Amino acid sequence: MKAAVLHEFKQPLVIQEIDPPKPEDKEVLIAVEACGVCHSDLHVADGDWPQLAKIVKKPLILGHEIVGRVVEKGGAVRDLQVGDRVGVPWLHWSCGDCEFCREGNENLCSRQKITGVTVDGGYAEFAKAPASHALKIPDALSSVEAAPFFCAGVTVFRAIKQAKISRGQRLAIFGIGGLGHIAVQIGCALGAEIAAVDISEEKLTLAKSLGATHAFNAASTDVAKEFRNMGGAHAALVTSAAKSAYDMAFSCVRPSGCLLIVGLPAENICFPPILMAAREVRMQASAVGTRQDLSEILAMAAAGEVRCRTATRPLAQANEVLEQLRRGNVSGRIVLTPG
Ligand code: NAD
Ligand code: ZN
Ligand code: ZN
Repeated sequence: MKAAVLHEFKQPLVIQEIDPPKPEDKEVLIAVEACGVCHSDLHVADGDWPQLAKIVKKPLILGHEIVGRVVEKGGAVRDLQVGDRVGVPWLHWSCGDCEFCREGNENLCSRQKITGVTVDGGYAEFAKAPASHALKIPDALSSVEAAPFFCAGVTVFRAIKQAKISRGQRLAIFGIGGLGHIAVQIGCALGAEIAAVDISEEKLTLAKSLGATHAFNAASTDVAKEFRNMGGAHAALVTSAAKSAYDMAFSCVRPSGCLLIVGLPAENICFPPILMAAREVRMQASAVGTRQDLSEILAMAAAGEVRCRTATRPLAQANEVLEQLRRGNVSGRIVLTPG
């Protein structure tokens, strides 16, 4: 099969022919129809996160927003049939037994496998996955439409859910990329007043078209002042990979508000404890989502309440897409179509 393979950090992926994976007893083999290109793929390819770099499989097939059709299944697979359309998220497998799994937070599983990080992902014609963690795709969604919900969608859905936003509250979203533009729509669906912040006018226009009330360009506006004038944000969701977005977001949160940590810059973020204490700012980090979160956001997408803006590219252009993402030139999500 054809695959885009990472051999070394910071080196272009090699588009090459390799043997397709063989599904084990509890696994399915999937003919990949769509695989979203997430900014996390870029971080992984660049070795941005030393904490994660240690567990990255090499050589590695990137890609953790996979949708395709089951073409083969292991002997112990009961709930999926050949021909079913399924998706595979970042959380490739969780044990079901550890404390975190039992508490309902399988996304924190201490024995988890990660698609496109510790096991091969979807920048390929075929991928395999445990049947237990491959979710069926609602008929109302095409494979390309559905793929980005397996990371971008589920991640912001869980983050916003954790903030417990009420109707009428102000939700600031820093970074209107793949994750952020879906977050705008989820926030609107919950009745929040959305203030979008980005450094690209095109992304801000997109945010407005999706329902944001305010749109601020961080490169040319005193964003902190704008938020002070509004009374601050009840929650500020950072989906940008820029450390400077965190510095700005922190200053926009109102006392007792919540900073939602989702974007993952390579640098550490730090805030003055005196301001954290004086404002009783809460911090809530979020790691993708559980299968339950995924089912909920897929149902919202199938009902037309939220849509991902997508463009497609052939697998052979994986390097060009990563470069486009690095330059900040992707509006919505680019989805590779290996099939
Ligand atoms: P993206 O490149 O599509 O979007 C990033 C957006 O941030 C772009 O629109 C860019 O213009 C904007 N931006 C850049 N600098 C900015 C600044 N200073 N202020 C405001 N906006 C700025 O990326 P994505 O795929 O949406 O991913 C975003 C981040 O989220 C990445 O760091 C990724 O690794 C992370 N992520 C985290 C999780 C998680 O579970 N926590 C899951 C998925 C992705
Ligand atoms: Zn992702
Ligand atoms: Zn577990």
